[in-house]
Formats: sequence, structure tokens, C-alpha cells
Amino acid sequence: MKSDLSGFYELTVEERLNKIKKMCSLTNEETEAIGKTGCLSLISSDRMIENVIGTLELPIGIATNFIVNGRDVLIPMAIEEPSVVAGASNAAKLTRPTGFTAKSTEPLMIGQIQLMDAPPGTKEKIYAAKDKIINIANGKDSTLVKLGGGMKNLEVRELPSPRGKITIVHIIVNVQDAMGANAVNTMCECIAPFLEELTGARAVLKIISNLAIYHLAKAEAIWKKEVIGEDIIERILDAYALAQVDPFRCATHNKGIMNGVDAVMIVTGNDFRAAEAGAHAFASINGYKPLTSYTKNNNGDLVGKIEIPMGVGIVGGAINSNPIAKIALKILGIKHANELGEIAACVGLANNFAALRAIVKEGIQRGHMKLHANNIALAAGANHEEAPKVTQEMLKENKISVAYASEILNKLRSKKN
Ligand code: NAD
Repeated sequence: MKSDLSGFYELTVEERLNKIKKMCSLTNEETEAIGKTGCLSLISSDRMIENVIGTLELPIGIATNFIVNGRDVLIPMAIEEPSVVAGASNAAKLTRPTGFTAKSTEPLMIGQIQLMDAPPGTKEKIYAAKDKIINIANGKDSTLVKLGGGMKNLEVRELPSPRGKITIVHIIVNVQDAMGANAVNTMCECIAPFLEELTGARAVLKIISNLAIYHLAKAEAIWKKEVIGEDIIERILDAYALAQVDPFRCATHNKGIMNGVDAVMIVTGNDFRAAEAGAHAFASINGYKPLTSYTKNNNGDLVGKIEIPMGVGIVGGAINSNPIAKIALKILGIKHANELGEIAACVGLANNFAALRAIVKEGIQRGHMKLHANNIALAAGANHEEAPKVTQEMLKENKISVAYASEILNKLRSKKN
């Protein structure tokens, strides 16, 4: 089989799918399954990315019980992993009636222009031309400027590198309700020729930074000792201490946070890779650290906090092309991107708390395995009629494995025949 499919992009979706069907020996059912759509049509998909042959669905669950800044909010989450929606809902329930408090910074994103071979005095020249640079950048996005956004400031940094000194110009752009990557990239590209002319340096990269240190969301919640128990609080603090000192644990600690954040990003049509990159880079600024923190207050209650970069949008990108994204925003009942970022931060904190509580209490597998057992049954080849019976038997025997699922399945089928 060859993968250099010249002209593939020029085919219709149907033609592409037929080609892949033949090349990969897909059955009619498989071809139909991958080409089938939900509410994201093939026409829309074909306009969103390249070489489209189908769409992928994910379960959407609603996280309940959240109160964010005094408002009850239902939170749609798109995710394939069991227990994440339940974990968030349960953690939120335990914060009621107060719920979460959350806030965010101004939506300021950073764009980078890399200058090489910069002559002495470059930094000073750039700072002196700040107003002119802002004018050039803002001339590229009158919509954003009319809304109160646009380029606001700049910073110049210098770093040694294996290729010599690099001068980096950061443009600081208020992106309002957009994630801002396209807006910022366009500005970087239009400023670069001016910077070359101004300084005599050579411009190389012109692109947004996902390390959004000026665009942060913060959230906080209190889990009372009467509600979760003093012993659990001590154990959660122990578990948090490990994440503070050990990157092996910290990676998993932060992954648990991103379970919730990504699920909100995906359902709202946001770029979850950008959220991931931003979160982990932010966590690494002073050595890799947890994105959440836990302390005990004077009452002995557990105070959980999160601070996380939040380059999210409610306009732009894929948000307009994907009907689900708009419906999710309607369910969330939000008007501005900062509210979405704050809610996502609350979900991240809730999922982190839920995971810690489960791990220190009974271990994560007990609750997890119920839904996971169904996946195992399917992996063993059970159809949707057989899967519940196989799952039930595995749970009853507390033996959850593909091998045991196959054994049960064989017995079931031999009884039938
Ligand atoms: P966009 O360009 O589609 O939309 C932003 C534009 O919408 C603004 O520039 C503005 O002109 C207009 N707008 C209208 N109403 C607005 C409002 N209320 N607030 C703000 N702007 C408003 O999208 P974007 O947000 O600039 O870029 C997001 C996309 O860029 C995502 O799809 C992302 O995947 C992609 N991307 C990401 C990276 C990265 O993260 N490194 C790089 C390249 C592209």
C-alpha cells in the first residue's frame, strides 16, 4: 500500500472514502460507520480540515452540581474516559452550597517575532517605535480593535542560542472573546517586515506563544472537613505533597486536571492542544509543578486552588463551524470567553480533587472499572447485546480482563447455539 496519494485532496469526500475503503479493505459497514455524520455534516467538515473522509463522535456528558461565582451552571463535557464527568459532578456537589469562586485576567495573548543577527541598539529602537508597531498591528484587525481589543504593548527579550543571540519581540494582544491565534499570527506577520527595516535584523518565526502567562483563569473551592472527613483531607495533602516534589506524580496530577479542562475545550470547539501546551508549559516555568494547590484553612477545611493559562474563545476558529460548540455554549449560559475559561478552571480543579479523593480513599479503579468493564467486554468482541451480560459477570467475579471477558463470551455463545 502506498501513502503518496497524489490529488487526494481534490477528490470529493465520497471519492476519498471509497479510495480508502479499497486501499484498507474496509467492509461496507466500516465504510458506512466512518462516513456517517452526526450534526457536523461532511460539507462542513470538508471546509474545516483537509482530506476529510468522515467524522468522529464522542460522548457528551453533563457535569451537574456546579455553582460558579454564585451561579448554578450545567457543564457539557466531551470525553471518552469513564468517571471524569461523574468525578467532576461529585466534587462540585461537595462544595455546595458555596460552590467555586473564579476570576480571570484580561485576555492578553503573546505573539512572538524572532529576530536574528540583530545589530547593537535593536532593543532600544524597538521600544522607541512601540506606538508605530501598535498602529501597524491594529490596522490588521479593525473588528478586534472596535471591540476594545488589539495590540496593547510589547516586550523585547534576548536569549543566547546555538545559532547566536536571538532577539524576541513579544506583542501583547487583547483578543477579547477569541482564542486569538489567527489574529495574533496575522499581526506578527505584518509587523515583521517593519521590524526588519527598523533594525536591520532578520525576522524568522512570527507566531503566537501558547505559554499564555498573561491570560490566566483562577478558581478556588473549599471542601469542608464535616463533609469529606479530616482523614481524607490529611491524605489529600499527603498526595499533593508528592506531586509538589515528584514530576512522575505531577504529570498524572496535572493530567487529571486536563481531563476536565480538555473535555470542556472539546465540546465548545476550542483548541485543546493549545490548552494542553499552555498548561504544561506554565506548570514548568519554575520546574514542573502542580497546576493546583491544596492547603487547610483555620477551620481545618481543605482549600483547593487552580491557576491555569486559558486561551479560550467563544468566537472564531472552529466554533462557528461546529453546531455542537454553539449548543454547548448555550447550555453553559455564558456571554464571554472569560466566563468559559473560569468554568473550565473550576472543572479542572473539581476533577483533580475527585481523582485525589478517589485515589487516597478506595483507589481509582473501583468506580472506574464499572464503565471500563463495558469497554473490556467490547474489546473481547462482545456485541451491544452481549456486553451488559459479560460486564455484569466480570464485576460479580471482580475479574476484569479481556481474557476473562472472552471466556464468558464463549460460554454465552455456546449456550445460545
Ligand atoms: P479567528 O481568526 O477565526 O477569529 C478571531 C477574529 O474574530 C478576531 O480577529 C476578530 O476580527 C473577530 N471577532 C469578532 N467578534 C469578536 C469578539 N467578540 N472577540 C474577539 N474577536 C472577534 O480565530 P482566532 O481566535 O484568532 O484563532 C483560533 C484558531 O487558531 C483556532 O482554530 C486554533 O486552532 C488556531 N491556531 C492555533 C495555533 C496555536 O495555538 N499555536 C496556531 C495557529 C492557529
